Amino acid sequence: MPNKNDKVKENVGGAYYVDSSCIDCDVCRDTAPDNFMRCDENNYSFVYKQPETDDEKTLCDEAMSCCPVEAIGNDG
Ligand code: SF4
Repeated sequence: MPNKNDKVKENVGGAYYVDSSCIDCDVCRDTAPDNFMRCDENNYSFVYKQPETDDEKTLCDEAMSCCPVEAIGNDG
């Protein structure tokens, strides 16, 4: 389960986030590259832009359901 109290600090504000259980697997960055990117310093992903279109939301939801450790949440 994603933990909204354990978000990585790089997430931009808004509904979608990555928490600290991310294992840096690349799935979300491949699935929704307009919204997720890698923090090279800390070896995890974060949300750098909240989805703005239905297509982006669909891809973010896909990334959320495909994340192998359930590190992506939506508390919107
Ligand atoms: S899919 Fe999940 S574990 Fe993989 S990089 Fe993204 S947030 Fe991290």
